[in-house]
Amino acid sequence: MSDPGVPAPQPPTPLVEIRDERLGAVRLLVKRDDLVHSDIVGNKWRKLRHLLADARERRARRLLTFGGAYSNHVRAVAAAGRLHGFETVGVIRGEERPFNDGLARAVGDGMHLHYLDRATYRRKHDPDVIEALQGAFGDFYLIPEGGSTVHAVAGCAELVDEIAEPFDVIACPVGTGGTLAGIVSGLPPGSRALGVSALRGASSLETDVHDLLVRSRGRDPGNWAIDHRFHSGGFARSTPELARFVDAFRARHALRLERVYVAKMMFGVYAAVASGEIVPGATVVAVITGRDDAVAS
Ligand SMILES: *Cc1c(COP(=O)(O)O)cnc(C)c1O
Repeated sequence: MSDPGVPAPQPPTPLVEIRDERLGAVRLLVKRDDLVHSDIVGNKWRKLRHLLADARERRARRLLTFGGAYSNHVRAVAAAGRLHGFETVGVIRGEERPFNDGLARAVGDGMHLHYLDRATYRRKHDPDVIEALQGAFGDFYLIPEGGSTVHAVAGCAELVDEIAEPFDVIACPVGTGGTLAGIVSGLPPGSRALGVSALRGASSLETDVHDLLVRSRGRDPGNWAIDHRFHSGGFARSTPELARFVDAFRARHALRLERVYVAKMMFGVYAAVASGEIVPGATVVAVITGRDDAVAS
């Protein structure tokens, strides 16, 4: 990953203390993974790093992946393709609509978009659907929706290795669970991980994270949990309470929380402190897995 002209990634990302009297005797550190790379942001860079190396080793020329119209993952794969010399195909759930910013950027990065109706999309990993895609686009290196593979687990474990201070709890947002699985697999003894789901009713997430841990490390250490109470109405939804929290956090700490995932995670961390689920005296690391569009542009 050292092509000339490719912006350099900047791990280790900073670990910054947040001083806030609302946290009482809990010490909160944020891991600024939103700063890890200018074009492939946050956990998407962590998740794609080893996968891109694998694709290159296998001499793949084309990456194909899946996602909804608002998928940060699809956008990250498009940027990675541009930077690392792969053709990219984004298979998008649903009917073709006017581009939103994310899809416009993916196309700007050279991604070819292909739309699948929702019924076919649900069967996207079935052999007949894959064969039809190969017929249309030729051979490709397949990246599953959300990119949560064993390579993603390895990449996300590295962010934990960068944390030089002892901590009790590490929190991250959860979409498909690859980031959480990676963090769990990198945990030092005595620490636990807390995932906050950004989706409503995502009841298979625990199984997904468990399976991913077993597939990549051979075992699930079990020192993790997912909190499902802070989705604020569902994926990409918000509430006035969450919006006020984001505004207040920005005013106090000059840090603008990405709204789809990071804001819900931080809200969940503050709630866990308020309820005593995170005990006074504990040190918590909250992983800032991404940043808002407006800041990213
Ligand atoms: C994609 C994304 C997530 C979700 O990561 P998973 O590994 O799918 O759980 C979390 N935060 C941000 C900012 C993201 O873009």
